[in-house]
Amino acid sequence: MRAVVTCESCGHRQAVARPIAAPESFFVICHECEGVLRVEVTEQDLRTASPPATARRERNPAA
Ligand SMILES: [Zn+2]
Repeated sequence: MRAVVTCESCGHRQAVARPIAAPESFFVICHECEGVLRVEVTEQDLRTASPPATARRERNPAA
């Protein structure tokens, strides 16, 4: 998933460049005010961001 972080100081929203595959917390620097933002990704976040790949397969009624 890709996290979008909203800066608490200036409200600037920015996407986190690194892909996140597991629950973790890390820091990013706000591009607007250069404040340090703590990002915490929980398992719940991962689930809501990337739903399980249950691609609907539509059967093609061949003849
Ligand atoms: Zn900021």
